[in-house]
Amino acid sequence: MFDHEPDNHIEVLFSAHNLRCTRQRKAIYAALEATREHPTADDLFRDVGREIPGMSLATVYNTLEAFCRSGLVQKLPGAGLNGSARYDAVRDDHLHLRCRHSGAVADVPESLGDALLRHLPREALTEIEHKLGFRIEQIQVELVGEFEGPRRSASDS
Ligand SMILES: [Zn+2]
Repeated sequence: MFDHEPDNHIEVLFSAHNLRCTRQRKAIYAALEATREHPTADDLFRDVGREIPGMSLATVYNTLEAFCRSGLVQKLPGAGLNGSARYDAVRDDHLHLRCRHSGAVADVPESLGDALLRHLPREALTEIEHKLGFRIEQIQVELVGEFEGPRRSASDS
């Protein structure tokens, strides 16, 4: 019976994150969700601006900040080439590669990322929490380097 229902998963996500649903917000989220490129606000503005004439870059920034505050989107601060932030609609913990030449950011396949994170010494993390009075909620690891030869995607092996 739901075959002809419009795809409203974005409305559902917004409401689960207490986000007001507007046409602009939906378009920005849809564009972010559709890519694995970890776009900057400028990238998204270029993409979505064509669809929604009159939308400002400030709207894109403010919307992305609202997404991040609500936990819907992950922010990768300073990952863009000119130090701008990149954004990621994949909320699960995962590791990133960043190319220091092109600024490109790619996801590390989950199994490999997990293998690395599993071996982080718990004692050191606990000690950091105690010494600095800080509760660690999430660990982000960024592997910085350069791609050798043609870009390989996570699905190739
Ligand atoms: Zn990512």
